[in-house]
Amino acid sequence: MHKRLFIPGPVDVAEDVLEKMATPMIGHRTKDASILQRSISEKMQKLMYTKNQIMLSTTSGSGLMEGAIRSCTRRRAAVFSVGAFGDRWHKMAEANGVPADKFASEWGKPTTPEMVDRALSTGKYDLITITHNETSTGLMNPVEEIAEVMKKYPEVIFCMDTVSSMGGTKIEIDKLGVDVCITSTQKCLGLPPGLAICSISEKALKAAEQVPNRGYYLDLLNLYKYIQKKDHQYPSTPSLPHMFALDYQLTKILEEEGMENRFARHSEMAEYVRGWAKEYFDLFPEEKYASNTLTTVKNTKDINVAELNKELGKRGYMISNGYGDLKEKTFRIAHMAETTLDEIRQLLSIIEEILEL
Ligand SMILES: *Cc1c(COP(=O)(O)O)cnc(C)c1O
Repeated sequence: MHKRLFIPGPVDVAEDVLEKMATPMIGHRTKDASILQRSISEKMQKLMYTKNQIMLSTTSGSGLMEGAIRSCTRRRAAVFSVGAFGDRWHKMAEANGVPADKFASEWGKPTTPEMVDRALSTGKYDLITITHNETSTGLMNPVEEIAEVMKKYPEVIFCMDTVSSMGGTKIEIDKLGVDVCITSTQKCLGLPPGLAICSISEKALKAAEQVPNRGYYLDLLNLYKYIQKKDHQYPSTPSLPHMFALDYQLTKILEEEGMENRFARHSEMAEYVRGWAKEYFDLFPEEKYASNTLTTVKNTKDINVAELNKELGKRGYMISNGYGDLKEKTFRIAHMAETTLDEIRQLLSIIEEILEL
C-alpha cells in the first residue's frame, strides 16, 4: 500500500507529473534539449522572482550547496546555522578545505540580522550562507531583515538554501539581493528527488573567477559558462526525465494554480497545523518564525513518535519523526507541494484518534 506522505521530502507527486518522467528520451545536445532548458529557466525565474541565470544540477540540493560554498568563497565563509542543514553547509566547507566559521543559533531560534552584522563587521568574510527554511526545526528565518543588513556589505556573496521552501512560499530573490539561491525538486516543487536548481548572480560569478580550485562537476562558473556557450546545455548528461517533469510542473504552478494561490494554500495549511499543534502539544520553534511549509511539533505529551508513525502507516499515512537528537522530542508534519487542507484535516483527525486526544 502506498503511504500518503506528510514528510518534508520526498513528497507525493501528482500522477500526471510522474508520467512526464517517462517521456521518451531526446539527445542532450539537440535543439530540443536547449528549448526545454530555456523553458525551465524562464519559469524558474518567475517562481524565484529573479533575472539571474538559472542552473540545474543532476544532484540533490546538497550538490549545489557544496558547489556554491566551494566555487564562490574567496577568503572565508560565515555559515549561519539554525539546525541540521545549516550545520551541513559548514561540514561541506570543511570537507572542501574552504575556510569557514559557523554561527549557530540555539535550535528553534532564528539567525538574527544582528548576528549577521556582527560577523560581517569584522571584515573577515566574503560569503555568507543562510538557511531560508530549516527543515529540522521547522523554522523560517527573517530573511528580509537579514537582507537589509546585507546592503551594508555589497562585496559579500549571499547564498541561501531554499530547498524546503521554494515553490511553497514567496521568496523574492532579486529584492533580497541573494546571489546564489538553491533548491531541489522533491519538496515544495512536488517532483521526485534527483535534481537541484539554483539562481546565480553576476556578482557570484565574478567572485568564482577569483577562486582557483572550484572542483569539477559542481564548479558553478564552469556550469554557467557552458550554458552561455552552448545555448542552455550542460557539460555532462542531465537528468532529462526530471527536466520534462519540471517543465510541465512549473506550467501547472504558474498557470493552472497560480503562484499566489499556491503560497496562500501553503500558509493556510500551516496555520491550521500550528493551531492544532498548540491545542494538543506545542510548537518547537519560536512561533513568530514558524515555517509555512512544515510544522515541527514539540512532543509535550511524551508520546511514542515511532509508534504513532507505525499506527499511521497501517492506515496509509506517514509523518516524520524529529531530526537527529530531536527524534522523539518532536515530530514533523509537512504541508508542502500538492497537499491540500482537506488532507491535512484528515491526517490530524486520524492522529487524534490514534492518540485518543
Ligand atoms: C532537504 C534539505 C536539504 C538537502 O536537500 P537534498 O535535496 O536532500 O540534498 C538541504 N536543506 C534543507 C533546508 C532541506 O530541507
